[in-house]
Amino acid sequence: MLEERDLKRGPNLATPLLTTTTASWRLMRPVLHPERCNNCLVCWLFCPEGCFERGTGTVELHLDFCKGCGICVAECPRGALALVEEGSGDARLSER
Ligand code: SF4
Ligand code: SF4
Repeated sequence: MLEERDLKRGPNLATPLLTTTTASWRLMRPVLHPERCNNCLVCWLFCPEGCFERGTGTVELHLDFCKGCGICVAECPRGALALVEEGSGDARLSER
């Protein structure tokens, strides 16, 4: 039986083909409508994965750890975020 001391902690860096980010299983992703964003950072406050960063003019999205939960979309007071299907090729994509 496994004991706690047998369990590795942290990312598995010995296996290069495995990613250490968690976005690979995401089915939906948020997209930003920059013309509606006023950089208020409510999304930053609510995102459980820390995907938002204050930008110049608009907030910046970093989606490596985004799980597509949609909390940011629900909380944005200006309707500046929307969820789209992963890989949909949505022209409004604005991340990374
Ligand atoms: S909550 Fe909405 S308006 Fe505020 S910074 Fe985030 S995306 Fe922009
Ligand atoms: S969908 Fe969820 S994890 Fe992704 S940026 Fe929005 S709040 Fe964060």
